[in-house]
Amino acid sequence: MALREVRVAGDPILNKTFRPLKEMTERISMLIDDMFETMYDQEGVGLAAPQVGVLRRLFVIDIPEEDEDGNETEEKHPIVFINPEIVETSGEVTLAEGCLSLPNKVANVTRPSHVKIRALDRDMQEFEMEADDMLARCILHEFDHLDGHVYSELATGPLWDIEDVEEDGDTGMVRLKTDKGAKKKESRKRRRRRRL
Ligand SMILES: [Zn+2]
Repeated sequence: MALREVRVAGDPILNKTFRPLKEMTERISMLIDDMFETMYDQEGVGLAAPQVGVLRRLFVIDIPEEDEDGNETEEKHPIVFINPEIVETSGEVTLAEGCLSLPNKVANVTRPSHVKIRALDRDMQEFEMEADDMLARCILHEFDHLDGHVYSELATGPLWDIEDVEEDGDTGMVRLKTDKGAKKKESRKRRRRRRL
């Protein structure tokens, strides 16, 4: 496995539409391993092929589980989505969102709260999945990358520097810090991973 370079805002590859994958090859299998490794290395929870410069419709996700104290467990839950189609969405929720391709930025984004997706897995077998909460958010965010869209297009407010905001523990949204110095420790402790 190897780490891949994550493309960042300004790279034209992030604004293209990508073609489906026709067959699983050794090269693509290696790409998937590299995508997981790169995502874990950068503490992301999702990564789409275009973000590492590959023009195919696939993305990977692994949302960390939390124990009772809210600490992330080491357990891995990797999921591969190839040639995904969004079957249906419902609900609406606004949450803070970030992206490995827009480093150190965060914004509140409104998206459906529930999604049903159909895709192929690593063995090119079709599966359907229904997701809520963070997983739904992550799926919709990564899916957008395959059509050249980034979350900042959907942001309900400004794109903030991550150091300037604090999270509202109840809503999962971010807001500008009122007192930068005093809030720093607190927000670091409870900062959820939201880089997609
Ligand atoms: Zn992203």
